[in-house]
Amino acid sequence: MKHTPLNPAELDFLVNGLHKLAHNLWWTWNQEAQEVFHDLSPRGWQNLYHNAVAILHEVSATELRVRLQDREFATRVGAVLASFEAYLNEPQTWAHTAAPALYQNPVAYFSAEFGFHETLPIAAGGLGILAGDHAKSASDLGIGFVGISLFYREGYFQQAINQENWQTEYYTLLNPKNLPIEPVLNAQGQPLVCSVDITATEVFFQVWRVNVGRNPVYLIDANRPENPQHFRDLTLRVYGGDTTTRIMQEILLGIGGVRLLRALGVAPSVFHMNEGHAAFLILELLREKLDSGVTPEAALAATRTECIFTTHTPVEAGHDRFTPELMDYALHKYCGGLKLPWQEVLGLGRVNPANGSEPFCMTVLALKVCRAANGVSELHGEVSRHMWQVLYPGVPVEKVPIGHITNGVHLLGWMKGTVRRYWRRRLTTTNGSETATVALTPDALDQQINSSAFWDKLADPAFISDEELWALRYSLRRELIEFARRRLERQGYRNTQSDFIAFDQLLNPDALTIGFARRFATYKRAPLIFQQMENIVRLTRDSARPIQFIFAGKAHPRDDEGKRFIQNIIHLSKYTDMKGHLVFLENYDVHVARQLVSGCDIWLNNPRRPLEASGTSGMKGTCHGCLNLSILDGWWREGFDGTNGFAIGEDSHAATIEEQDRVDSANLYRALTETVIPTFFDRDSLGVPRRWIQMIRRAMVTLVPQFSTRRMVAEYTEKYYTRR
Ligand SMILES: *Cc1c(COP(=O)(O)O)cnc(C)c1O
Repeated sequence: MKHTPLNPAELDFLVNGLHKLAHNLWWTWNQEAQEVFHDLSPRGWQNLYHNAVAILHEVSATELRVRLQDREFATRVGAVLASFEAYLNEPQTWAHTAAPALYQNPVAYFSAEFGFHETLPIAAGGLGILAGDHAKSASDLGIGFVGISLFYREGYFQQAINQENWQTEYYTLLNPKNLPIEPVLNAQGQPLVCSVDITATEVFFQVWRVNVGRNPVYLIDANRPENPQHFRDLTLRVYGGDTTTRIMQEILLGIGGVRLLRALGVAPSVFHMNEGHAAFLILELLREKLDSGVTPEAALAATRTECIFTTHTPVEAGHDRFTPELMDYALHKYCGGLKLPWQEVLGLGRVNPANGSEPFCMTVLALKVCRAANGVSELHGEVSRHMWQVLYPGVPVEKVPIGHITNGVHLLGWMKGTVRRYWRRRLTTTNGSETATVALTPDALDQQINSSAFWDKLADPAFISDEELWALRYSLRRELIEFARRRLERQGYRNTQSDFIAFDQLLNPDALTIGFARRFATYKRAPLIFQQMENIVRLTRDSARPIQFIFAGKAHPRDDEGKRFIQNIIHLSKYTDMKGHLVFLENYDVHVARQLVSGCDIWLNNPRRPLEASGTSGMKGTCHGCLNLSILDGWWREGFDGTNGFAIGEDSHAATIEEQDRVDSANLYRALTETVIPTFFDRDSLGVPRRWIQMIRRAMVTLVPQFSTRRMVAEYTEKYYTRR
């Protein structure tokens, strides 16, 4: 059949729509939108690391218009754009009835890092990933929400492993033109510029806007020609530099962030501090109120009612602390304009305000001046109440006003697109093809994927047989192994000594595949399992019941112990009998994370309890049928019910670190050999592990809807955002 070609106006509509779409991260959690960018340049999609904005530069304007004359492609683009617009304009979101007041006066969510997507590497780890997922779900729920962070033009470091198997760091300059960010302009069309006093200098900053679905996240950027170079470099790297850089970054984030919101005319009803890094925003809110002439007591009381605080750190040493001298150096000019005596300012960050040598703690400031505070799991809430009881003299520990909201993950963002499609097809069709009548609006899809009813149905063998589920698991495991082989081959080119094995023979698609990937902070104990080295080697070499390990993760640039962990594991993978059964993938990021959590059979998590405040990576696997094997810390202590995965040890921990390591590694080995491996290899005559599949079904029902940010952000909204 002959089609009439698209006219110029129709072409303009699609081209403009694609540019708008590329500049809204909504496409990162919409499979059909990603496929459009992929299909424009499949090779570019890989080489440019899934960067929609860069793809639109890669494909010339001429090519794009010609390609859109392919009617089938144009129809797909049109459908994606219609779905995107429907999302942006949805009148009946969850917040429409649950939190309508937040449209006028939104939540301002401050976080030093946001992990959205591999093309915008401005997060160091789980804290940033959580912030990114929080923002995405706030959009999905239709909540009035504005995010504030910094634009780090060299982002977080890239990891390379050298000849000595030692982690080295390098940085690449991010090019704003190739990122899903847009400069924020003033009424004259010039970059909006604000300023804040740091030391004796007025430091200027510009701002980038990231569109996260329906909401903006603003990124503060000190790289202005007005600034001396050392201030321009304040926003160079995520947590870059020393404590002096750190306090200055935090002044930009907290004080600069409030200034920015005022300049934009945004009047938040609540300021949510994601970790203490942002707590200087309290000083700016106080300054505003003191300037209007109220008493310090009234200013404090009013500021308190506007702020809520989420703490993430269960160790004393992990909280930001600044010496009085550094505070004075960084803030004396700013505080000169604050109608509050300097000693009182310092007192806000001290447990004992009268103690002149006590450092200024950002967490103390946040706890003292907020209307609500929470930890990120039940156990972490309890640990935090103990840790900060000193701030509430005479209050029994269970009455210390720190609650908890357990973390979650943004499901549509983490679920592989192919898997999402697979689930939906199984539920909505009788003969394998999705009919037009079941096409859902983006809101309905998000609701459906997050609902218990959906996962109850999926877990019902009447909808998906054991055989089908097992076939899916096999294909996901193979995808991961092929991904790992490609990455290892690339790594191998740099490590001359690693031509020890053909890359296409590394890892075994039939083996029980155990994943461990996260920051290599030492409390997470990446090499714990190798304390039983001989036993583990024996397990990997059992040809009837093979197991294998895939590791990934970055150590902090100044954490030599974490780097030694990496070195250790790579050494085992290259020079011992683990060879071929253990691999380390370089440069962990959200893309690597997505491959790992979907393809592994077991997600291993063995932190030193109770130091894993929540942990989220284990939540990302469940919707793909990956099971958790974890210490009962953080979220898993709440998630585990005896039928939906595996626990290492009991709901308790030993008194000393040495004892804990010894007991936990023994328990880990025991769980592996007594339950995990036997269950995985207990096959029937068709080769299907019925009991394993039953656990996957239980995990889907009990964990997926519960540990999602849709549930989490709704809980923040009901408990804190809309309630005084
Ligand atoms: C999910 C995620 C994390 C957090 O993992 P935890 O297990 O909570 O430490 C860190 N980094 C990346 C890239 C992630 O995707």
